[in-house]
Amino acid sequence: LLQLSVPLNYLGMVYREVKQALVNIERMFELIGEPQEVSDLPGAPALAPRGAEVRFEHVDFGYEAARPILRDVDFTIPAGHTVAVVGTSGAGKSTLARLLFRFYDPTGGRITIDGVDIRAVDQASLRRAIGIVPQDTVLFNDSIYYNIAYGRPEATREEVVAAARSAHIHDFIVSLPDGYDTPVGERGLKLSGGEKQRVAIARTVLKDPAILVFDEATSALDTRTEKAIQAELADIARERTTLVIAHRLSTIVDADRILVLDHGRVVESGNHEALLARGGRYAQLWALQQRERLSTPADAV
Ligand code: ATP
Repeated sequence: LLQLSVPLNYLGMVYREVKQALVNIERMFELIGEPQEVSDLPGAPALAPRGAEVRFEHVDFGYEAARPILRDVDFTIPAGHTVAVVGTSGAGKSTLARLLFRFYDPTGGRITIDGVDIRAVDQASLRRAIGIVPQDTVLFNDSIYYNIAYGRPEATREEVVAAARSAHIHDFIVSLPDGYDTPVGERGLKLSGGEKQRVAIARTVLKDPAILVFDEATSALDTRTEKAIQAELADIARERTTLVIAHRLSTIVDADRILVLDHGRVVESGNHEALLARGGRYAQLWALQQRERLSTPADAV
């Protein structure tokens, strides 16, 4: 997994990058032993999500005191529902997910799950309840089996294979000469963007969290792969409370509820049609992305 002979400051650097990338790294915290920015209250109980309603209540946050990033962000994702967040680059979309995972605490307001402030519960239990499909999946230099099983290391082989099947990556894996034992990562087989996302989906299926965060890849996959992955995600999002961080609007036109974040504030919310009809910020973003799409040569997509 990690070579512990690597100097610790290097690990610190990797840790920060990984944290920035919203990777599923609960266990890495322990391995690296870096002081954390948030800590548990003594005797904090474990989170036991029921329906897992997620609420941001008047949340303010900045990475540095002088520069607010989120301002009075207030929204609810009812248990089992999906909310998508859009906004220009730097609007604070991924920051919402970092706060929900409690990499940082809000400076004002609070975040609750089933009405319980996430600062009041044991962090390990909070992170067990949330599955993140990150923008860019980090693969360990190990077998593809290990990379999927990482979602829940105590899973049986049957469970790992079932997760790979539901992420539609099983057939690909068994077509490889060494099947599930094929080494991947830097020193092994390089997986495509779509294959890496499927590994992340399989990990998440295995983890079986009540809450799902999908941080959409910024780099576009080819349209067919993207559609297929969307369908797989819609499948695993069913019954789970889901936050989609969308970097392209085309992927969320079907979402029940879209929040438009602008300079850290929620400026509009509604579904695609309602927001287009409003002719506001969302409609502007949509027009901008349509123009960009048309001006991109087909072979560059
Ligand atoms: P994108 O669509 O480009 O991913 P985003 O809306 O997800 O953007 P965030 O990643 O939430 O944006 O970042 C919001 C702002 O916070 C940005 O201006 C960014 O520079 C700043 N920021 C992000 N992470 C940190 C950090 N660790 N320290 C300081 N500032 C940060």
